Amino acid sequence: MPVTVGVAKETAPGERRVAMVPEVVPRLTGPSGIGVEVLVESGAGTAAQFADGAYTEAGARIVDRTQLLADADAVLIVGPPDESLIGGMRPGQLLIGLLRPLSSPDLVKACAAGDLTAVSLDGLPRTLPRAQTMDALSSQASVAGYKAVLVAATAYGRYFPMLITAAGTARPAMVLVLGTGVAGLQAIGTARRLGASVSAYDVRPQTRGEVESLGATFIELTSVGSGAGEGGYARELTEDEQRAQQEELAGHIARHDIVITTAQVPGRKPPVLVTADVVGAMKAGSVIVDLAASPLGGNVEGSGAEQTTIAENGVTVIGAGNLPATVPAAASSAYARNITALLAHLMQDGALAIDLDDEITRGVLVTHGGQVVLPALADRPEE
Ligand code: NAD
Repeated sequence: MPVTVGVAKETAPGERRVAMVPEVVPRLTGPSGIGVEVLVESGAGTAAQFADGAYTEAGARIVDRTQLLADADAVLIVGPPDESLIGGMRPGQLLIGLLRPLSSPDLVKACAAGDLTAVSLDGLPRTLPRAQTMDALSSQASVAGYKAVLVAATAYGRYFPMLITAAGTARPAMVLVLGTGVAGLQAIGTARRLGASVSAYDVRPQTRGEVESLGATFIELTSVGSGAGEGGYARELTEDEQRAQQEELAGHIARHDIVITTAQVPGRKPPVLVTADVVGAMKAGSVIVDLAASPLGGNVEGSGAEQTTIAENGVTVIGAGNLPATVPAAASSAYARNITALLAHLMQDGALAIDLDDEITRGVLVTHGGQVVLPALADRPEE
C-alpha cells in the first residue's frame, strides 16, 4: 500500500493558503514523484484560486475531512490547525506544517497526548544546504517582504518612481528597510523595481554586500557594533545598545517617506527600532509597515498585528498580519514545494520513516511516540 498524504483545508481566520497546489501533485504521485497517494479536502485550495477539479486533473482525490483523517498517513497543513483536526487524528499519524510550536503549547500537548508525530517546518536547520528546498520560513518571508512594499505603496499618497511629465516632476520615494534578512532583502528588491530610492540597515554588518548588490545604500551606525548571533541570526541587544540604536536611527528614519521594518531575534520579542517620538518626527504622509508586528509587539512602539493607525502628524503605521496569506497562490506554490521536499526526506523505501539520528528530522520533530521531543520544549518543566 502506498503512503497516503492528506491536504487539509485551513481554518484560521484570513488564512487563504493551502499546503499543496495542483502543479506540485505530480511530484508526489507521478512516475517521477515520490510514490504517494494524495487526498485533498474538498475546497482546500479555493481561497488560493485552486479549484477541486484542478487537483483531480493533477492526480489527487477530493475527499471530505472525515475521510481525509481516516485514510491519510500524513496530514499536510500550512498554519497551526484547530483543535477539531487534532482531535480527529489517530495515534501514529503524521502532521506536517508551520506549527509554531514555541507559541502553541496547547497544540503541542494535544499532539503528544494523541500520540501524533508532529513535524514543524519552523525548526528546520535552514543553513544546511540540503535543507534549502524545504525552507518554508524563507519562502513565506520572501512573499511577506514583497507584499509589504505593495501595502506601503498603496497607503502612500505619492509615486514610488521618479516621474518626469508635462505636469511636473515627481521625486522618487525614499524607502528605508530595517532588518535585511530574507523578508528585508525581498522588500529592497521590490521597492527598487518600483523605482524608489532605497536605504537599509541591519545589526548584522555582513548583510551590507547583499543590500548593495540590490542597488540600495547600507546605513552603518557608529553607536552599535555587530549584533550577529548564532546560526546566521541576530542576537538580542543590551538595553544600552538598543537605546543607542534607536537614537542613531531616529535621524535616518525621519528623512524617509516609507519605512519597512522586519527585525526579529529568534525566540525573543521583536526589538523596538522606531519609537513613538520618531514616528512623531516623520513627515505627514509617511508610511511605516511593521512586518514584525505580533501579539508581543513589533519594531514600532505600540504597533500590533493587523492594526493600522494614523498618528496625529499624518504618519500611517501599518502592523502587518499574515501577509503571505494575501498572496495565496504564490505563497502556496512555494510552500507546496517546501513540504514535498521535506516529505521526501521523511520517506525511505516508499514508507514514512522517522530517523532520529538525522539532523533535519531532529530539527523539525516536535512530538513523537507520545512525547514532546523538540529540545526547546522537552526541557521545559511541566506546569
Ligand atoms: P529573521 O527573520 O530572524 O530577522 C530578520 C532580520 O532582522 C535579520 O537579518 C536580523 O539580523 C535583523 N535584526 C534583528 N535584530 C535587529 C536589530 N536590533 N536591528 C536591526 N536588525 C535586526 O531573519 P531571517 O530572514 O529568518 O534570516 C536570518 C539569517 O539566516 C540571514 O542571514 C539569512 O540569510 C540566513 N538564512 C540562511 C539560509 C541558508 O543558508 N540557506 C536560509 C535562511 C536564512
